[in-house]
Amino acid sequence: MLLDPFRRKINYLRISITDRCNLRCRYCMPEGGIPLIPHEEILTYEEILRLVRVFATEGISKVRLTGGEPLVRKGIVDFVSRLSQIEEIKDLSLTSNGILLKEFAQDLKNAGLKRINVSLDSLRKERFYHITRRDDFEGVWAGIEEALKVGLSPIKINMVAIQGLNDDEIESFARLTLTLPLTIRYIEYMPSGNGEEWKESDILTIPQIKNQLENVGKLVSIPSDRWDGPAKRFRIEGALGEIGLIGPVSSHFCADCNRLRLTPDGKIRTCLFSDEEIDVKELLRNGGSDHDLKEQLLLALKKKPERHPINTHQFKKCQRNMSAIGG
Ligand code: SAM
Repeated sequence: MLLDPFRRKINYLRISITDRCNLRCRYCMPEGGIPLIPHEEILTYEEILRLVRVFATEGISKVRLTGGEPLVRKGIVDFVSRLSQIEEIKDLSLTSNGILLKEFAQDLKNAGLKRINVSLDSLRKERFYHITRRDDFEGVWAGIEEALKVGLSPIKINMVAIQGLNDDEIESFARLTLTLPLTIRYIEYMPSGNGEEWKESDILTIPQIKNQLENVGKLVSIPSDRWDGPAKRFRIEGALGEIGLIGPVSSHFCADCNRLRLTPDGKIRTCLFSDEEIDVKELLRNGGSDHDLKEQLLLALKKKPERHPINTHQFKKCQRNMSAIGG
């Protein structure tokens, strides 16, 4: 079992397999993109698989693939299939913007993926275009329908709620849960990514979101299970789907943090908001043993901060863009 100095049990690795993305969401990336990590610096699938196998023997049992956009990386289906065969990994999931989901949903399901998170910040075609700078709301929606059809479950839709951008769609998203088995998760806007634009006043806080949700119906709390992340779970009375509320800014949940992150270029990050990075690529490429890799994992664990610095006087924006960390 992996325990950090604050006695948190760490069993979750979020792996960003690419910093490339096929959207340019305003709050995440500038229109022209960001400087990309050179291809040769990006871990190969073989290298990632070796790491996961080694870390799994130490206690990592939950893996999420993210990016950038994970579905733009070639060979993703075969990679998922090989990951899903690692016995100790009990929960394998993926986070996508949904653009390529219609094309990949069935193959991913066949490869062993059980569930998926889709990021979607608007249900309105024109607004989707405004936020993502790409005109493909229908493509994402078709991807969600395909994921439902092939039986990926649960399907969680992540909506970053931003004042003046999509705050008037809180209720429309919630209404989707009345008739569809979707989990709608509202996430507070965090000071990361294209952070020059971030202002505290842009945050729609979880209490504000909850107030709006009461207009749709009575919110009934659902007890969390062991694979739940930081989301507080609810159901609108009588609804098929669920609501999740994630408030990293208004109420940090660091005391329950169980995760480490792996960047596309082989650095373990101890927290989304810390620039502390522990390199594993050198070892992977220069004959490091499994024991050496485990040592790096333990070092990362040791350096995991007690909490993120948002809302403290120590806060400064982290050096990497969200797309190069994996949100
Ligand atoms: N391309 C994939 C996707 O769209 O889900 C994975 C990467 S994306 C960076 C992961 C998530 O981070 C998305 O849901 C995105 O909305 C979220 N995100 C990016 N910047 C954010 C911010 N400043 N605050 C909150 N969430 C953010």
